[in-house]
Amino acid sequence: MAKEHVELICSIGELAGLFQKSTSLENFLQTAVSVVAYHMRAAVCSVYLYEEELGELVLHANQGLNPDYIGRLRLKLGEGLVGTALKELRPIREGSAPRNPRFKHIPGINEEYFQAFLAVPIVRGLTRVGVLVVQDPVQDYFDQNDTRALQAIAAQLASVIENAKLLMALHRMEASTAPAPPAVTVAPDLKFLRGLSVSPGIALGRATVFGGPDDDLHIEESAPAGAYSRADFDRSLHNTEAQLTALQTQMEERLEDVASMIFSAHILILRDSMFSGAMARLIEQGSPPREAIVQIATDYIRLFAASENPRLREKVQDVKDLGRRLLRNLRPDAKDAADHAGRVIIAGELLPSDILKLVAQRAAGLLLVGGGATSHIAILARSLQLPMVMIENRALLDLHETVDVLLDGDQGTIYVDPTPEVRQRYRDLQQTSREVASIPIPESDASATSDGERIDVMANINMLSELKIAHRFRAAGVGLYRSEFPFIVRNDFPSEEEQYRIYRSLLDQMQGSDVIMRTLDVGGDKMLSYFPSVNEANPFLGLRALRFSLRYKDIFTRQLRAMLRAGEGRALHIMFPLVSSVDDFVDARAVVRECLRQLEHERTPHHATPRLGAMVEMPSAVEVVTELVAEADFLSIGGNDLVQYVLAVDRTNAQISDHYVAYHPAILRALKRIADAALAARKPVSFCGEMASDPRLLPFLIGIGIRRLSVEPRQIPNVRQQLARLNYAEARTRAAFLLTLGRISEVEQALGITRPATPAA
Ligand code: PEP
Ligand code: MG
Repeated sequence: MAKEHVELICSIGELAGLFQKSTSLENFLQTAVSVVAYHMRAAVCSVYLYEEELGELVLHANQGLNPDYIGRLRLKLGEGLVGTALKELRPIREGSAPRNPRFKHIPGINEEYFQAFLAVPIVRGLTRVGVLVVQDPVQDYFDQNDTRALQAIAAQLASVIENAKLLMALHRMEASTAPAPPAVTVAPDLKFLRGLSVSPGIALGRATVFGGPDDDLHIEESAPAGAYSRADFDRSLHNTEAQLTALQTQMEERLEDVASMIFSAHILILRDSMFSGAMARLIEQGSPPREAIVQIATDYIRLFAASENPRLREKVQDVKDLGRRLLRNLRPDAKDAADHAGRVIIAGELLPSDILKLVAQRAAGLLLVGGGATSHIAILARSLQLPMVMIENRALLDLHETVDVLLDGDQGTIYVDPTPEVRQRYRDLQQTSREVASIPIPESDASATSDGERIDVMANINMLSELKIAHRFRAAGVGLYRSEFPFIVRNDFPSEEEQYRIYRSLLDQMQGSDVIMRTLDVGGDKMLSYFPSVNEANPFLGLRALRFSLRYKDIFTRQLRAMLRAGEGRALHIMFPLVSSVDDFVDARAVVRECLRQLEHERTPHHATPRLGAMVEMPSAVEVVTELVAEADFLSIGGNDLVQYVLAVDRTNAQISDHYVAYHPAILRALKRIADAALAARKPVSFCGEMASDPRLLPFLIGIGIRRLSVEPRQIPNVRQQLARLNYAEARTRAAFLLTLGRISEVEQALGITRPATPAA
């Protein structure tokens, strides 16, 4: 895709008009950098403004670098390339900025990936206003036309910024007369924390500790204890059930594949005569309704929490939810406020179904404390667009529920009781991402390199609700449907019929394009809470994926039958995860053939000739890939696991993540062998791992002949953008060169990657 200079200049023209409606200069500038980055197809865009009195430039808006530096990064006139551009009032364009002796390295800003650099001064008359900068990982990315376009934009920005500065001065005066913010009671070392980003997005809301002390039934209640009557209790009971039923219906409509019966336990407990019946009896004996609810709910919470049975222990949270809901509904004027609406949930432990409940109750974000974010929790949060950060600091679990928390899922940062400035900055960021989200998506779904090699960019789908995004970004199909999600969030194995409905809906919604359905991939860190798993010392080396399916043939058969039935009259691709040998594949195929015989015999409509593929994710599969591809109809490379198993690095262990090096020469060579085998056998091969959306590694995949990529739906525009700037002939040469390198450090040098030093013990 070409850079859109004309369109860019027009958009900035419109932005000038938009500024009148913007809430602040920062908001406007943040929108501006997003629009410039988008149209210039640049990974980074920044605006620095010049403070004449101090002779310093301040970073005011940025996309692509560490946002913590916004408002904090200051450069003297003449300092670094940015300062020089303004001092000398000339554009500076560098193919590889770090090579320029004037380049100033700012630790922590995350600039190291970005080689190409272009800065133009923003000037009004003779007045220095600031600097506009774009950066990109691809060397020599910017040309003379880009410089001209950026200069045109800078000229337009100049006048807007000048007006805005006047307004800002006015706001400063107002702020200085505004009342002081309320006193903060949070320990200073808890004010700002850095965690691990799990799911993107920003959430600002009241902290709510999930699964806090077991007998804590937190009540937000100001009415006196005896304020309610038996009639209030009856109404509360009735309304609580109606609300839960409505919530269940809504979730089933929104998440047809995974939300089945998530509130069923709530409703069952609510109706139980030992629960609501016991409350009613207490009230009849003279207890005020509020006390009766608290007493019985607390008894249940204690009972469940002490249970040996993990399935009962899981219900503690449900009872707390119920208790709170009943208390709230006592009030005659109670609204159906969702339990967690607008809240930032802080949890020590969480089940996949908890995430669904939190989303149903409109939680704003999730902070998982003390590890334990298994990959399905992370994937669920991302799929449900729930911003989420993981952090070690357990003190957060003691946070008072009167404090606000700001969680930045993009950066993995947390602000406890954020200052008004921080809140405003994030409100602006949210506004900006809304504005950027409305940027129109290109008409066509075709993706190609700059020299015309067609590449399919498909979507990895975990839940059917994500198909909407895949369609919006014009995915060329579903390259990986992770069928385990309906299994993970339920309390029991879904029936063949339930699975059939889910797969049929998936195929219906993607009609006309390929859908590759993967059979169950559980085990590892994707455990089924209802399946008595053997206690494995090394679950990733244990009963995982296809091994599980081949061990439990009835579960496998049920799933395959559902897939085969759903595929009737459609194109049907089924693939097996974690195939370790040709024999594995042949065994799995035999089960498919047996299912086909059964369905034929029963005269049940089905697809009689599905295409069967193998995922190549293990070194053993790479070693026999020629024989494997001879048997399979297609191959799919699961890059995430391939790296894990080739390098023997647990992909979920943050402590050794510096060993998880996707560009290790061993990985590059393994990928090349897989691609070669598939090309020689003239069988399709796709790649579906995180590597495909990494701009540093994508050229290699294309260069070795991969023509199908499957990525998280939100990554599709980014990947298509990267592809459009890629020259296939060059990518081939480059890949051939990378394959000659034997050391990680050599590959890093060739790809322009700087890795942080390995932490010493
Ligand atoms: C992979 O391993 O790369 C892959 C796509 O599968 P998953 O991430 O579901 O293991
Ligand atoms: Mg995998």
